[in-house]
Amino acid sequence: MRTPAGTECKYFFGDYYRGKNHEECRLIGNAAPPHHWTPDLCQNCPVPHILLANSCPNMVLTAQVKRQLLGFKRQVIVSAYCTKSQQNVKEPEIGCGQCHPLPPIFTEK
Ligand code: SF4
Repeated sequence: MRTPAGTECKYFFGDYYRGKNHEECRLIGNAAPPHHWTPDLCQNCPVPHILLANSCPNMVLTAQVKRQLLGFKRQVIVSAYCTKSQQNVKEPEIGCGQCHPLPPIFTEK
């Protein structure tokens, strides 16, 4: 679904049926303030870019809202875990490398 920032994100849900105006992020969920989701967070959220770059079904994303810049700015911080290799994924855009190793032409000398 398209977020308020205009990007596609599978975790965004908006219900506008019959005058409703309910929006939520199903990745962040119902975190208590000040770590709750608000639509402005989609503007700088890295998740849509990660989903475009890597659609691995074994990678599980988790997200938290944290305060940055002396507590004035809130930002979505994402971490990734691979359920197949059982390890944290340092670069979610690339993945852990177990399912999709680089072709030999890039690794042979
Ligand atoms: S905050 Fe990020 S993960 Fe949540 S709906 Fe917006 S773009 Fe998607």
